[in-house]
Amino acid sequence: MFSYLLSLPYCDACAKYLKVKAKSTRFSASLEKFQEMINSVVASFNAGEYQKALTEHQNFGEASNPKGGFIGTTMLSKQCATCGLRWLGFSANLSPKSKWDGQVEKKYKFSQYYAADCNV
Ligand SMILES: [Zn+2]
Repeated sequence: MFSYLLSLPYCDACAKYLKVKAKSTRFSASLEKFQEMINSVVASFNAGEYQKALTEHQNFGEASNPKGGFIGTTMLSKQCATCGLRWLGFSANLSPKSKWDGQVEKKYKFSQYYAADCNV
């Protein structure tokens, strides 16, 4: 539990945990579509275009789990209720492991803090 709490997004300036603003979970059975999506999302993160990253993730796959193969991805948007500091996190799980062996990493996880007035 302690390490879980440590990993939660936190605003140092206000000494507060950030509150969930939006959460989106998408599923797919297509490794090709997953790789297209992750390339775009990573590029948008690197460019500081967080709204674009959210949209790209929204347009990926389906809202429910399709048959045959399983790629689950989550995008979580959080914000500090006091100062407005934003945070965007992405995670993906590919299972069962055997299906994707040698093709791609099984787990992806990255996140970024950004300013409240960031115009994206
Ligand atoms: Zn704050």
